[in-house]
Amino acid sequence: MYILHISAECFPIAKVGGLADVVGALPKYQEASGITSKVIMPFYEKDFVKKHDPIGFTKGNLLLGLEEYYYEVLEYDKKTLGFELFLVKIFGLTDKENVYGYPYDVERFTAFQKVVADFILNQEVKPEIIHCHDHHSSLIPFFTGHCYKYNALKDIPTILTIHNAQYQGWFGYEKMHYLPEFPADKKGVLDWYGQINPLATGIKSAWKVTTVSPNYLGELQEKANGLEALLKQENNKSLGILNGIDDKLWDPKKDKYLKSNFDKKSIKKRQANKDWICKEFNLNPDLPLISFIGRFVHEKGSDLLAETINYIFNELNLKTNVLILGSGDGQTERSLNDIKAQFEGKYNNYIGYNEELAHIVYGGSDFLLMPSRVEPCGLNQMYAMRYGAIPIVSNVGGLKDTVIDFDEGEQGTGIVCYDISAHEIGFAIKRAVVVYKNKTFFDTKKTQIMNIDSGWKKSAAEYIKMYQSLTLKS
Ligand code: ADP
Repeated sequence: MYILHISAECFPIAKVGGLADVVGALPKYQEASGITSKVIMPFYEKDFVKKHDPIGFTKGNLLLGLEEYYYEVLEYDKKTLGFELFLVKIFGLTDKENVYGYPYDVERFTAFQKVVADFILNQEVKPEIIHCHDHHSSLIPFFTGHCYKYNALKDIPTILTIHNAQYQGWFGYEKMHYLPEFPADKKGVLDWYGQINPLATGIKSAWKVTTVSPNYLGELQEKANGLEALLKQENNKSLGILNGIDDKLWDPKKDKYLKSNFDKKSIKKRQANKDWICKEFNLNPDLPLISFIGRFVHEKGSDLLAETINYIFNELNLKTNVLILGSGDGQTERSLNDIKAQFEGKYNNYIGYNEELAHIVYGGSDFLLMPSRVEPCGLNQMYAMRYGAIPIVSNVGGLKDTVIDFDEGEQGTGIVCYDISAHEIGFAIKRAVVVYKNKTFFDTKKTQIMNIDSGWKKSAAEYIKMYQSLTLKS
């Protein structure tokens, strides 16, 4: 079987969040189980392309409205990443550094998808499954299903995996001429509330829709940034498959970023990572270290962090350290910087993206805080548990699928916060401080959570089962 994954992100080429981790890991595990799994994504001016030379490329011209663009599809063999990779370099559109955030993102990702569809059309051996990820590739099931040019691809099953339904790629009808020609009666497939909505189009057109955790699928039918009714309507072809983690890359025993490697037998060596963090950020190594890693967006509850820090130190008088690693919303960044002086010695932050530091924080923190309002799957809690940091999480999405509150009994794996407010998060942190003081319980739980198998094996098998159900039918 040959699966082609289409995505805007893939680790280590370009990463903004969990999408990259998933698309960088799943194909490796699929290859290991004997199926051919390739990735095609936009080119970005990042380290990866400076350090790796392609083994070849194909080229062509693309028409987007009235503009013509020259493009190259660069090819990297399996030796580089464990799966074949193609980077779509459209001169003037995708030869940029950042993944998102350009005023012409609609043009970038629409052009990218047209090149991908042409690429598949021209491939001698075509994929048996086209697997799209999020809205940056979700027009492709529409192209292959309804556009004249791609009629030869209409029998290839398409899958759309929703990693995050908040972002849908909306654009207006004045840009409809960017799309390949299709019969007039198919215009409605593009539409959701008077706009062209790529994510909605993908949900309608793909043969199967998956979400990155079972619980998120149910939640989306209630809250999906306007797509609730559509997801209810398409329930029969939808399925939730929990993400795994790349347990070879995220292995505290071998992690090249850690200051001190460890496993559950040598868990004492973990302390050196905490000591390093405390020294670097002027924190107290004798107190618990509670960390947050993530994008500063409303979904992650990051807007509540400064208020929570104020609350736990000024009202609850908790004896703990708090470290925040992240970036995003300007107001959140400012509020987190503003309180630094006030809580010197017990609170600090790193505003920015730092992959290396993130690994050390998972490997040195006692607790990892995730007060998310929306969490499609969440990888951080799984990395934290593999690295022996106890998760403090809200009760949403994939967090609900992966963390059991200590109050539930022996199988408990963390602290669950049932309401998202500074007060409730503060209360959850208070529970963490109590857990930290109970050394026997704390040490037992740390090793227990490191034992959890969150690898891709089980989920990769579920994907294969789904692929098979589609290829057998077709
Ligand atoms: P999302 O995709 O919604 O951002 P996930 O939990 O699925 O959330 O994945 C987040 C990934 O991004 C994790 O690998 C996490 O370690 C990483 N990450 C987020 N913010 C930062 C940051 N500021 N520095 C380093 N890594 C980060």
